[in-house]
Amino acid sequence: MLFVVTGPSGCGKSSLIHQVMRDLRNVRFSVSHTTRPRRPSEQDGRDYHFIGRPEFERMIAKKQFVEWALVHGHYYGTSKKEIEEKGAIGDLILDIDVQGARQIKSNLLRAVFVFILPPKYEELRKRLRDRGEDGPDIIDRRLRNAKREIRYYADFDYVIINNKLDRAVLELESVILSSRCRTDVRNAEIRSILKSFK
Ligand code: 5GP
Repeated sequence: MLFVVTGPSGCGKSSLIHQVMRDLRNVRFSVSHTTRPRRPSEQDGRDYHFIGRPEFERMIAKKQFVEWALVHGHYYGTSKKEIEEKGAIGDLILDIDVQGARQIKSNLLRAVFVFILPPKYEELRKRLRDRGEDGPDIIDRRLRNAKREIRYYADFDYVIINNKLDRAVLELESVILSSRCRTDVRNAEIRSILKSFK
C-alpha cells in the first residue's frame, strides 16, 4: 500500500516517518528527486536524489514522474521507478506536498492519504526557526505556504496532530497497521488459510 504523508514544512513529518520506519518492518521510504540544495544533515540517495534543474526538466519531458511539483521555488518529484521498485512489495511512504498528493489521487493510484498538522501556527514557526537549517526568507516563504496548504486537510483520509511525537508516531503506525488488516489487502493470506480448512 502507498501511504501519502503530507503536511506543512516544519510540522515534523520527517522525524515522524523516520521513527515509524524504525518501529515497523516492511515499510520503505520513497526517495524523491529535488532541485533544492542539499542541507548539511542530508545524504544524497537517502533523503533525496539531488539533481539539477535541466535534469529534472528532462525527466518531466520523458514522463518519468508519477507526480511532481514546484514547492517553495524548487522542483520535487516521485519517480515512477521508485514506486515500481519499492511499492510492489510491502508498504511505501511518500513524503510529498499537497499538489503531489492531489496528482496521486487524480492518477487513481491506490493510496492512503494522511495529513500532518502542527498543534498551532506559533509552534510551526518556532520549529522552523529552531531547526536552524533555513534562513529567515526561506522560513517566511514556508510559513506562507503552510497557511495555503492546511486548507486541503479535508481531502485526506486521516489527520494526525503532531503535538507529541510519541503520540503522532503511534497514530501513523495505527493507520499503517490497520490498512494491513483490510480484507482486500489480506486476500492472498486469507485464501491460503481457507485452503488449509479444506
Ligand atoms: P523539504 O525541502 O523541507 O525537504 O520539503 C519541502 C516540501 O516538499 C515538503 O512539504 C515535502 O513533503 C515536499 N516534497 C518532498 N518530496 C516531494 C515530492 O517528490 N513531490 C512533491 N510533490 N512534494 C515533495
